[in-house]
Amino acid sequence: MKFGGTSVKDAPAFDRVASIVAGQMEKAPVVITSAMARVTDALLDAFETAKSGDAAQAFSSLEDHFERHQEVSDALLDERLGKAYEAELALAKEELSSLLMRVERRSLPVQMLKDAIVAYGEQLSSRLLADVMKSKGLNARHVDARRLIVTDDEYGAAKPLQDETREIVQAELTDSVRTGEIPVMGGFIAASRSGETTTLGRGGSDFSAAIVGASLDAGEIQIWTDVTGVLTCDPRICEDASTIDVLSYNEAAELAYFGAKVLHPKTIQPAVDHGIPVRVCNSQRPDEKGTMVLAESGLSPNRIKSIAHKTGITILRISSARMLGSYGFMSALFQVFERFRTVIDVISTSEVSVALTLDDTEYLPRVVTELERLGDVEVEHGYAVVCIVGEGLRASPGLAAKVFSTISDTNVALISHGASSVNLTFVVKEESVRDVIKRLHGCFFSS
Ligand code: ADP
Ligand code: ASP
Ligand code: MG
Repeated sequence: MKFGGTSVKDAPAFDRVASIVAGQMEKAPVVITSAMARVTDALLDAFETAKSGDAAQAFSSLEDHFERHQEVSDALLDERLGKAYEAELALAKEELSSLLMRVERRSLPVQMLKDAIVAYGEQLSSRLLADVMKSKGLNARHVDARRLIVTDDEYGAAKPLQDETREIVQAELTDSVRTGEIPVMGGFIAASRSGETTTLGRGGSDFSAAIVGASLDAGEIQIWTDVTGVLTCDPRICEDASTIDVLSYNEAAELAYFGAKVLHPKTIQPAVDHGIPVRVCNSQRPDEKGTMVLAESGLSPNRIKSIAHKTGITILRISSARMLGSYGFMSALFQVFERFRTVIDVISTSEVSVALTLDDTEYLPRVVTELERLGDVEVEHGYAVVCIVGEGLRASPGLAAKVFSTISDTNVALISHGASSVNLTFVVKEESVRDVIKRLHGCFFSS
């Protein structure tokens, strides 16, 4: 059972989580929690402030968030646990203060310090949640996720080493759950082989849940959030977005990858590998069924299930006469992206040119310099990817016509369809994406 930041935003939320877990004791749950809402952002901001030379200001910017933890502790912990948590919080403050100073002085590689700092969000929330559960009489035990999940040392986006992790998770947790104990751990955080704290990338608590669930061959992985399941579209764009009952792994993966923030893109993989169903539920409305993500959705073939989108997209167009009738060009092109570890999202090619989109532009200037050896390169910023998802879309006659006639007055910069049977993806200017999604959602989902 994984609880996201909004599910642990304040004392009533912590209280609800404890009740939700208590209601599922017969399933022998393992609990994974994110940092309290907004805490990860605050820690990252503090890191940046310290890096720019003001560790003192960085530290004081966290004061409100320490206070929020203290308030939950005051409201829900019994006296003994409350005292212990206060000591834990005081220690965390001391350590964070010293880490921020080290960032200011650059006394260790900053990426390493950044993960050490940002990990405090989950360390503090998971300890607090375990204590809240104990205070309510549950047999909870806090487990430091950094002892269980082993990763490489790519700070900020570390990759779990599956076999080692599986072995440790099984050794640490199997007996515990069998004897009715509830292990409670932080998501998102892990450690490298040498024991340095690492993190799995933003939104990575879902991934932690999937890794632990897969390692234990869990019956189900539950993702508890602030909306009832995966919806037909981002509810911040369309208020009438509705819950999808069942999604296939493929559909869920496409949606997550193309911006449906409700599931982390990588969550699905460990679940797929082990055939474990994933359920997305609402911690504010625990009685609602939410969405089941299964190997096959089976339901409503040839129908659109959901529309996802991702903004902040850059288009690269590379054209070269050399491409005409020659081989090896694509390989040379992809090697450039591989060298700079830059992921391509959408790609489309013609006789003498290739257009592709990027989300991550950290190495863009160097990528462009290298690509210029292959041909002329154009870079355009400010785009958004729209991804329409549904099992069987590729084989649905008339679907593309319906989509593009609905938005016929919008300029479409790039289209990709047919690579997967479950999605139709295209790119529009960022400023028109809300309108595009509203119109498509209205066309496909309003009765
Ligand atoms: P958590 O803190 O629980 O991990 P997130 O903020 O990561 O929650 O994800 C939940 C949010 O994802 C929702 O509040 C919603 O605004 C957003 N979201 C975007 N697209 C979708 C979608 N298709 N279905 C459900 N939620 C979506
Ligand atoms: N707390 C981390 C984040 O905000 C991980 C997560 O919530 O999934 O990105
Ligand atoms: Mg999330």
